[in-house]
Amino acid sequence: MTRKQLIKALDKVFSQYIRTRDCLLTTGTLYEGICVTCDRRVHIKKCDCGHWQKRQHYSTRWNEQNCALQCKHDNAFEQGKDVEFRAAIVRRYGETTALMLEAEAKKPRKYYDFELLALIDYWKKKLKDLQEPEPMRQIVQNEGLNNA
Ligand SMILES: [Zn+2]
Repeated sequence: MTRKQLIKALDKVFSQYIRTRDCLLTTGTLYEGICVTCDRRVHIKKCDCGHWQKRQHYSTRWNEQNCALQCKHDNAFEQGKDVEFRAAIVRRYGETTALMLEAEAKKPRKYYDFELLALIDYWKKKLKDLQEPEPMRQIVQNEGLNNA
C-alpha cells in the first residue's frame, strides 16, 4: 500500500471504531448514536467521526478523546461546531484533557509506514472487541483461563 492508502485505511477503521463506540455509549446499540454537538439521533452509516482538533493535525488525528460521533451536517457545514465540541470533550473527559488536546495538536507528528500499519491493526482489534457479542467474548476469556 502507498502511504496515502495506508492513511485512508487507518481513517476508515478509526472512524468505524469511534462511531461504534459512541453508538454504544449514547444509545446502547451498534447502529444508532447521538450527535456530539446537536443531540440528534443518527444512523451509524449516516454520521461522521468528527474531529475536534482538525484532521490536518496528525498528532491528534487518531486520538480517541479528540473524536466523536457527529452528524454529517455539523461536521461538514458547521465547521464541526467547535465550541459545542469542546464543551462535550470537557463533559466527557474534563478540562485538562481539552487543554492537552489543544497543546498536542500543535506538535508536529510524522508516522512511519510500519506505525500506520500497526495503528490499523490496533483499531481493527478495538473495533472487533466492541462488535463481538458478549457471550463470545466470555468463551474466549474462559478458554484463556483454561490454557493458563
Ligand atoms: Zn449534529
